[in-house]
Amino acid sequence: MSQPRKIVVLAGDGIGPEIVAATRRVLDQVAVFDYEEHLIGGISIDEHGLALHDDVVDACRSCDAVLLGAVGGPKWDELVAVDPGAARPEQGLLGIRKALGLYANLRPVKPSPALIDSSPLKEERIAGTDLLVVRELTGGIYFGESGRDGDTAHDDCSYSVAEISRITRVAFEAAKQRAVGRDSGPRVTSVDKANVMETSRLWRETVKVIAGEYPEVELDHMLVDNTAMQLVSRPTDFDVIVTENLFGDILSDEAAMLTGSLGMLPSASIGAEGEPGLFEPVHGSAPDIAGRGVANPLATMLSAAMMLRYGLSMPAEADRIEGAVDAVLASGLRSPDLFTGAEGEREAGTAEVTDAVLAELA
Ligand code: NAD
Repeated sequence: MSQPRKIVVLAGDGIGPEIVAATRRVLDQVAVFDYEEHLIGGISIDEHGLALHDDVVDACRSCDAVLLGAVGGPKWDELVAVDPGAARPEQGLLGIRKALGLYANLRPVKPSPALIDSSPLKEERIAGTDLLVVRELTGGIYFGESGRDGDTAHDDCSYSVAEISRITRVAFEAAKQRAVGRDSGPRVTSVDKANVMETSRLWRETVKVIAGEYPEVELDHMLVDNTAMQLVSRPTDFDVIVTENLFGDILSDEAAMLTGSLGMLPSASIGAEGEPGLFEPVHGSAPDIAGRGVANPLATMLSAAMMLRYGLSMPAEADRIEGAVDAVLASGLRSPDLFTGAEGEREAGTAEVTDAVLAELA
C-alpha cells in the first residue's frame, strides 16, 4: 500500500480550530492521511513570540499539502495598537505564502443550488454558474517599485514572460481537470487591459504562446472592464478566468459575491510543480462567534476538496466531499450564517452540520 499523503494542518485562531477539526473528520471519511499540526498566527505569537516559526515553514516545505483555518483577532490587534512594532497574526499568513512560493490563487465560484437565493443576483442569471478565477499572486503592481516625489506617487507594474507563462499553465491545467467528465470542453478567458497597458500586451502575447501547448482548450481574451460587467450579467458563460494580480484581486471578490455566502467560499494557492499548495477558506477567523459551536465549516471542507483535487490529485474524493456538502444543503440544514427561516430550513451548529456531511459520505 502507498504511504498516506502528509498534510500540515495550521488551524490558527478564532473559529480556525473548530472548522479545521470538523474538516479533518470529513477527510478521514474519504481516505487515510498523515497529519501534522502546527501553530500559526496569533496563537503562535502567544507561544513563540512570532506568527510563523521556522520549524513550521520546514514542516510545510516537506509535506504534500497545507490546510489552513484562519488567523487574527482583536487580542492581537490591541497589542499592535499599543506597540505598532508588535508581531501581527497575518505575518504568519504572508510568511507561509512567501516561503512556499505560492504564485497562483484559485477561487471557484459555484453556488450550491440550495443556496441560490442568497445570491444578490436573480436566480435565472446565477443558476448554473461554475467558474474558477486563477489570479497571479506574486507579481504586478503590488510588488513593483513604489514611491513618492513631492506631491506625486507611483506604483510600477511589471511582468515577465516567465511569470505569465507559469500562471497561464496553471489555468490551462485547471481547465482540463474541470472538464473531465463534463459535456462541454475546457475554456480559458484571459483578462487584461491590452488596449492601454504594455504589461497587458505582453500578457496577451504570452498567453497565446502557451495556449499552443493546449490545443484542446478554447481560449478567449477579454478586457478587464468588460469582464467586470460580464461577471454579473452572464456569469454562466465563464469556465476558467486567468488574470494578473490587481485585476484578479478585484474580480475574484466580485465573483465570490455571486454566491452571497462568505461561509461557503474555498480557495487554493499553488506554487511550483511538486511543491505543496495551501488550501484555506476565504473568510477570516470570525472572533465574534469563536468557541460557540456555530461556525460554518463548509468553506473549509470545500477547501479540503480543492486540496484533494489540485494538491493531491485525488479528484474522485474531492467530488465526494463536494457532493456531500451539496446534499446537506439540499436537505435544508443550515448553520446560522446561512439560515433565513425559509420553509424547509433547519438551523444547526458546527457539529450537527459536520455529522450530516459525514452521514452523506458513509
Ligand atoms: P471574518 O471573515 O472573520 O468575519 C466576517 C463576518 O462573517 C463575521 O460576522 C463572522 O462571524 C462571519 N463569518 C466568517 N466566517 C464564518 C463562518 N465560517 N461561519 C459563520 N460565520 C462566519 O472577517 P473580519 O471580521 O473582517 O476579520 C476577523 C479577523 O479575521 C481579523 O483579525 C482579520 O484580520 C482576520 N482575517 C483573516 C483571514 C485569513 O486568515 N485568511 C482573512 C480575513 C480576515
